[in-house]
Amino acid sequence: MAGIFSKIIKGEIPSYKVYEDEKCYAFLDINPNAVGHTLCVTKTEVDKIFDLSEEDYNHLMQFSRKVALAVRKAIPCKRVGMSVIGLEVPHVHVHLIPLHTMEDATFQNKQSLTPEEFKSVAKKIQNCI
Ligand code: AMP
Repeated sequence: MAGIFSKIIKGEIPSYKVYEDEKCYAFLDINPNAVGHTLCVTKTEVDKIFDLSEEDYNHLMQFSRKVALAVRKAIPCKRVGMSVIGLEVPHVHVHLIPLHTMEDATFQNKQSLTPEEFKSVAKKIQNCI
């Protein structure tokens, strides 16, 4: 059965899309550590990142870098952090997190945004790609 991120990629579940190419899809994390927290997901549903082929792994890293540079331009922050976890959703994804303090990297303090705020953040990042 398709997982939640595959449903998002197919448009069966809504998301605040940031960018996509033929192999990857980027959208805002719905429960962000910080404003602009973005997920870069492989379109192929593989559980663990190091099980990707070398080609798909390298592609995901290039894709994530492109999106991270746009996040850094769009969202005021000290730097953009990158994490790979996957304990909640077993479908390869990279977290790109605008960091202000170490707390933003800990997944403990969450920000709440209105749908309009999510839309506006996604648009700002899109405009920087
Ligand atoms: P993890 O699998 O531990 O790397 O975490 C999965 C991440 O996906 C969490 O940060 C969730 O907030 C995020 N997430 C789960 N469902 C959705 C969704 N429908 N839209 C956007 N982000 C989601």
